[in-house]
Amino acid sequence: MHKKIRIGKNKILLYYFLAIVLPSIVLGALAFRGIVNDQAIYEREVRQQLTETGEKIIAESDLFITNAEREFLQKTEITGKPPAVTIFFEDSILTEFLQEKPEIDGIFYIQPSGRVQLLKSGVLYFPDRTFNRLNSNTQSDLDKALLKGWEYEYQDKNYHKALIFYQDLIKETRNDAMIASMLIPVARIQKKMLNYADAINTYRLIEQNYSHERVNGGLALGVIALMEAGRLYLVTGDTLNALQSTNYLISKTLQSHWELEVSQYNQLISECNDIIKKSDSCEDEHCRDQEKQIKTLLDELTILTENTNRQLLFLNKAPVVLKESGFKSPEAESGYRVYMNVEGKPINFSVFPESVDGQWGVIYNLSQFLNHLTQTVIPAEKEKFDFQWQLLKEGRELLSGSPENLSGDIRTMSVFPAYMPSWSLILAKKPPGIITAFFSASQGIFLYIFLLIVIGLALGLFFTLHIINKELSLSKMKSDFISTVSHEFKSPLTSIRQMSEMLFNERIKKESRKKEYYEIMLEQSERLSHLIDNILDFSKIEEGEKDFKFEKTNLTELINRVKSVFQKSIANEGFSVSLSVPVNLPEIVIDKEAIQQVLYNLFDNAHKYSGESKKIEIIVKSTADSVEINVKDFGIGIPPEDQNKIFNRFYRGGDELTRSVKGSGIGLTIVKRIIEAHGGRIDVESEIGKGSTFTVSIPLGGN
Ligand code: ADP
Repeated sequence: MHKKIRIGKNKILLYYFLAIVLPSIVLGALAFRGIVNDQAIYEREVRQQLTETGEKIIAESDLFITNAEREFLQKTEITGKPPAVTIFFEDSILTEFLQEKPEIDGIFYIQPSGRVQLLKSGVLYFPDRTFNRLNSNTQSDLDKALLKGWEYEYQDKNYHKALIFYQDLIKETRNDAMIASMLIPVARIQKKMLNYADAINTYRLIEQNYSHERVNGGLALGVIALMEAGRLYLVTGDTLNALQSTNYLISKTLQSHWELEVSQYNQLISECNDIIKKSDSCEDEHCRDQEKQIKTLLDELTILTENTNRQLLFLNKAPVVLKESGFKSPEAESGYRVYMNVEGKPINFSVFPESVDGQWGVIYNLSQFLNHLTQTVIPAEKEKFDFQWQLLKEGRELLSGSPENLSGDIRTMSVFPAYMPSWSLILAKKPPGIITAFFSASQGIFLYIFLLIVIGLALGLFFTLHIINKELSLSKMKSDFISTVSHEFKSPLTSIRQMSEMLFNERIKKESRKKEYYEIMLEQSERLSHLIDNILDFSKIEEGEKDFKFEKTNLTELINRVKSVFQKSIANEGFSVSLSVPVNLPEIVIDKEAIQQVLYNLFDNAHKYSGESKKIEIIVKSTADSVEINVKDFGIGIPPEDQNKIFNRFYRGGDELTRSVKGSGIGLTIVKRIIEAHGGRIDVESEIGKGSTFTVSIPLGGN
């Protein structure tokens, strides 16, 4: 028996493994594969998204240039072509356009002859001897007139006379250029006469009225006047004014106010630096403020210097550079775009389609282009879809972006087309961890699969254990049942056998004694037949094969009969069994034998579990539609936790002591089933040590 149970347990565990654990493992493995697959799909999607974004960024930056080109072309339609004679030309519309577009450094024009011209306003200074062209007649007349003044000033060193000479000349002259040229020696002589205040005033006059005049193609007088005034302020100890006039000079230079040649520009800058250096002593707040402003202006100048150098380099190398054919962007308005290195410096320009008159072109400012890319285009894309990025020059040098090493990430590289700077854009995104993938994969389908598996496993385990436990206890009950039933059979059979043997062998002589033996044998065989009835009924009821024969019955008679049989069986034990039945108890429709068995079982239990008590009460009550039979004992009682279970098959309550009372655990099960078959019910009220009352109520009409 024990072995059988073990086999059952193993079998159930095997089923559990085959039906739940194995599918769970398979599902789990599939889900895991799904996640890994999803991760690969995710990576592919991200890579594609990064590639698209990279291409979009490049297209956007291309568009940025294309837009500038488009606007430029519109401007050139309303402006005239530059005069063929100059290298640096002026044009107010283009100047304004250039100022609005920091991404464009300069504008150039190619004459049909191939001569390249630059827009003046984009250039901070010009090559030397660009303006060496003022040897007009006015100049030589002026030189002659001035000769006298020179003699007074340099030969005679008669400053007073020289001063009067120039001042008289000025009064007579109407020509601005001549007045300006004479004001310079006036200021110089005033300085020599140590008349600093006058000299400064003269320079200020020059600066205000004749700023752009030049003497002998030299520096614009405004520049000379401001530099000289600055120096004079220093001499008079007025550092603040010295700095202010320098500040003014530089800010004007920054606006390309003067047409400076390279050497003049260098002279101007070194002069300004000199003044700044000499004014170090001024600790005044205003001075410091001025110095700060000058420093910012000088920084801006440095940038413009680079732009200018680039343009001048372009101008210098134009014949070679322009021969290089460019690459046209698909959307571009330009005839061609070129990105190349000239003397080690990158230069990027567009040349527009040729007309009979010539060709326009623009030179781009690469750092502004970079700014636009990193501060506008990339952030705009990043807002839609976050990523890390790096902008590399020539595929190596980091121009901008994340300084981290992005090689562990999902990464794409987009190379700018040949007509744009030779940069490459790296976009990257961290790959998701397995956990993130787990939650994000296919809208969490794998998460649900996993949850299902876990729930399935848990439920399966719970039910399996539950069933195993139930089976085990049922098996134990069955085996207990068989052993107790065998015992119950054994003792009455033994006594019947012994007594019948003795009677058969005529060993009992006394008639009274013989009668006593017969009585005992009858009693024991009745007990046996009750037991057999119980077992047979139990198996019939369990299999649903028990037939009930309902008929009108006089219950009082029935109870009395069972009571007297029962009483006889325990006659020697000194029990008092009382019965109270109402006088006019109505007839009732029942299966007589079944109810007889019910009563017998209840009386037998009351007797068996009476302990020390020797009293049993049977009380019958009648209500309008039912009869109630109470079987009451004053014995050991039933613990509350057992009161529900005692009606279960094979259940034998109480401790070992109670179990020493003979029994099979099926009596109350049979009682309950029979009563239920009659449409009635059975209840128990019990208290440990005080006794139990079983109450059976049966409807009058039967089931
Ligand atoms: P058994 O053959 O063990 O008496 P029953 O089905 O008749 O089987 O009763 C089930 C259990 O209910 C008993 O083992 C006993 O523990 C308890 N029981 C039944 N009747 C009484 C009673 N009158 N007093 C105390 N316990 C009882």
